[in-house]
Amino acid sequence: MSERSERQVQAVWPPLRPELAGIEPYGAPQLDVPVQLNVNENPYGPSAECVADIAEAAAEAAVTLNRYPDREFVELRRALAEYLSKDAPVSADMVWAANGSNEVMLQLLQAFGGPGRTAVSFAPTYSMYPEYARDTHTEWVAGAREDDFSLDLDKARALIEEVRPSVVLLPSPNNPTGTALPPEAIGLLCEVVGDRGIVVVDEAYGEFRRAGVPSALESLATWRNLVVTRTMSKAFAGAGLRLGYLAAHPAIVDAIRVVRLPYHLSAVTQAVALAALRHAPELLGKVDELRSERDRTVDWLRGQGHEVAESDANYVLFGRFADRHAVWQGLLDHGVLIREVGPDGWLRVSIGTAAEMDTFKTALVAVLNPRGAES
Ligand SMILES: *Cc1c(COP(=O)(O)O)cnc(C)c1O
Repeated sequence: MSERSERQVQAVWPPLRPELAGIEPYGAPQLDVPVQLNVNENPYGPSAECVADIAEAAAEAAVTLNRYPDREFVELRRALAEYLSKDAPVSADMVWAANGSNEVMLQLLQAFGGPGRTAVSFAPTYSMYPEYARDTHTEWVAGAREDDFSLDLDKARALIEEVRPSVVLLPSPNNPTGTALPPEAIGLLCEVVGDRGIVVVDEAYGEFRRAGVPSALESLATWRNLVVTRTMSKAFAGAGLRLGYLAAHPAIVDAIRVVRLPYHLSAVTQAVALAALRHAPELLGKVDELRSERDRTVDWLRGQGHEVAESDANYVLFGRFADRHAVWQGLLDHGVLIREVGPDGWLRVSIGTAAEMDTFKTALVAVLNPRGAES
């Protein structure tokens, strides 16, 4: 082999799909700093009693680890349906789960997207959506949100009529802006999309919404093309568990079974998720406190003269900074990790404990006004 052709071979090794070459894997920096407010986790871990119950459930599952788990995870689907039924009637055959709602949404794109089909969302929004589209060879179209990050429903309708998507992906509340969808939006989008596609309302942060903001679960009975996704990663204080799920028409759930990997939910995951669900009141017990802390954080940031997006989630997008990276780095130097994400000039802070938020506020003042802090 000549030197030149050898180099050509080198240049394409490993033989990755060309459109993936040079792409950085998704992920926020995982840094070991005292105050971690960057990935919207619940800052409160489980009690000793809850830990013991989870450990016992895992030990019980271990006894039969030589066997494959229940492929249809019937018991877990029943428990998730019961949990969702406090918002709207949901039965077990309307529920599906996977390793995080990210996997649920990828499966939705595998089943309902694909070559020749289009997925639509409205930017700025969750940065994983275009990756699901890329990985399933689905065309990706992003409309734009308004200056206050809300959705102009006339423009949304026009875009959907133009591109006729098979999948519409809409987080409510939206990440990274915190913006919830108004109730009329869901009906309008489901109507315009019709039987040609599905409308996925990603309620990863649904439990944090403010009083009076309805869940899309309430619209399931009206729209058979509506899919509502949830996760145990955020309000449920189970990010390490990797359990996300959806509620939808049973025919949609049935369709996903075609693309799921065999036994995708491990026996340990199923057992641990069931144990965590038994402790739902405790694990969700800090949600009200976190919502109040969020509202206090919004007020405080506004009081400091910052622009702050309305938030129904457990994070707040604020700005604008000429050099947001410098502010992010300055906070990190004070031991506070937040997220450099969203439109240029904005930063996102997750809501932590009251003590963590105090540290964040003190650090932000020091970073933005270094001389004031010294004197
Ligand atoms: C965090 C988050 C999720 C949840 O991801 P998991 O895979 O369930 O941990 C889903 N959607 C959005 C918009 C998120 O921010």
